[in-house]
Amino acid sequence: MHGSLRLRSGQATPLTTGQTCRNPWCKAVFEIHADEEAFLQKIGWKFGSTEVHPPLPVFCPECRLKIRTCHRNERNFYRRKANLTGKEMVSIYHEDPLWGPPDMVYMHDEWNDDQQDFIEHGRPYDFSRSFFVQFGELHKAVPRLGSMVIGNENCDYTAGTGYCRNCYLINSSEYCEDCYYGKLMQSCKDSVDCSYLYNSELCYDCFSVFKSYNCVSVAFSSNCRDCFYSWNLSGCSNCCLCSNLRQKQYHFLNEPLTKEEYERRVQEFRGSYIKMEEMRRKWEELNKTMIHRYANIVNSENCTGDFIENSKNCLDCYDVNESQDCRYVAVGVQVKDNYDCSNMYIKPELCYDTLGTIEAYNCAYSLFVFHSQNLLYCEYCFNCKDCFGCVGLRRKQYCIFNQQHTKEEYEKLVPQIIEQMKESGEWGLYFPPSLSPFGYNESLAHEYYPLTEKETHVQGYYWRKIEEKKPVVSKTIPAARLPDSIDDIPDDVVDWAIVCEKTKRPFRILKQEIDFYRRQKLPIPHLHPDERYDRRLALRNPCTLFTRTCMKCGKPIETTYPPERPEIVYCDACYLSEVY
Ligand SMILES: [Zn+2]
Ligand SMILES: [Zn+2]
Repeated sequence: MHGSLRLRSGQATPLTTGQTCRNPWCKAVFEIHADEEAFLQKIGWKFGSTEVHPPLPVFCPECRLKIRTCHRNERNFYRRKANLTGKEMVSIYHEDPLWGPPDMVYMHDEWNDDQQDFIEHGRPYDFSRSFFVQFGELHKAVPRLGSMVIGNENCDYTAGTGYCRNCYLINSSEYCEDCYYGKLMQSCKDSVDCSYLYNSELCYDCFSVFKSYNCVSVAFSSNCRDCFYSWNLSGCSNCCLCSNLRQKQYHFLNEPLTKEEYERRVQEFRGSYIKMEEMRRKWEELNKTMIHRYANIVNSENCTGDFIENSKNCLDCYDVNESQDCRYVAVGVQVKDNYDCSNMYIKPELCYDTLGTIEAYNCAYSLFVFHSQNLLYCEYCFNCKDCFGCVGLRRKQYCIFNQQHTKEEYEKLVPQIIEQMKESGEWGLYFPPSLSPFGYNESLAHEYYPLTEKETHVQGYYWRKIEEKKPVVSKTIPAARLPDSIDDIPDDVVDWAIVCEKTKRPFRILKQEIDFYRRQKLPIPHLHPDERYDRRLALRNPCTLFTRTCMKCGKPIETTYPPERPEIVYCDACYLSEVY
């Protein structure tokens, strides 16, 4: 991964070149840009007469993203007991923490109970011991929420979701109904196996699709209806095996057909596993020969990265919209002046090296902080201000290690701790991987940069051995032995375990899922939901930019397609001249 030279983006000239990542297994050469240094001067914290700013980073951007996102599990769920009441619950935290006991996990209503005040876990700071060691002790002692969700109904097996109904195994999604097996879905209904799906309905196996209806295996498209196996369509209906079309209907392989002929061809494959897999294979082939736009950047100014919408001055950013003046942000909505942040929602401003916020202001090195400001090294803090090294606090100010201080004490003590952290080399580092409750392979980091078990040990991450629970079922059937047509699948399929063709992992079919497949004339999948999830994710490029040239006009472009990739990659102007 680090073999070729990566040029980080941006018009600003690099402040320093040839920085070497401090991780010995990485040693990637990276740049620190002038805008980055200016940002680190702009963000800061005042403690009386002392002003503190974050130091320049010592790890390369990829290592920073890995270290942050190894603290986020979006898709692995466990049945366990809540520590307060012993009630059965579904949680993103396994009952056996990889860091060893203690591990305190509460149910939602238990954690949110106003009688609870985790300030009782407060402890004095010991200047003779390491900051992270002491923070680790506090962080393991304070109870955590079983899973970060809000306002859902019947959505036990979801994470990072809000205001959803009857959903199963979806993550990072809001306002969805009857959706299964997905990621980053907003306001969607009746959709299965879709990721990055927005305001859409009755979709299956789609990726990065907006405002669409009744589509199967469609990617990078918007405002489409009744389309199959297509790429980069806009405003199309009844198109199959098409790419880069605008406002077309009844097209097959980019050629117009009569309505009758088109419908005859589509009816041929619907509901048959063998025929639809063959179509999917053709769809993947099509991706290799079609023209690719250098990046998915829409209605934006001075932005580099991928999947950016309605934004300005976002450099090396991924999955952001309505954002401005950012660099190295991955997943963000209405983000302003954020550097090195992940999963930032609802107007986060002036944040640095932070993961998972709602309405955070001037925070750094923090994890899951909501409606808060001026927090440093805090985790799970809601509606807090001016806190340092705290966990699980609500409506607090001037706390250090969950201990309440006066303003004067706070302003005196925090700069002293920071001085000690500077001496120990801990200041300016994010929470280390050893403080993550997750195995690397359970975490979001594994989606960005997959590692083997051996590599995770070398790099200081945990690894969770996936135990396959034997499903209690009436029968287990290899996927290949399923009837080919959805019409021949009996009702009791919901009582079977199907053995994944690729991984041999058994999986179940939900009752509401089989209803969906029958209604939509889709075959039963032969792959485990995790395989299908990964197969969709593979449709996007990793979050790394390369400088190369447009394959038509030769103009330099910054793109996530490395120069050695086989796809045909065009700059914006050349791409638009080819789209019909
Ligand atoms: Zn690195
Ligand atoms: Zn060009």
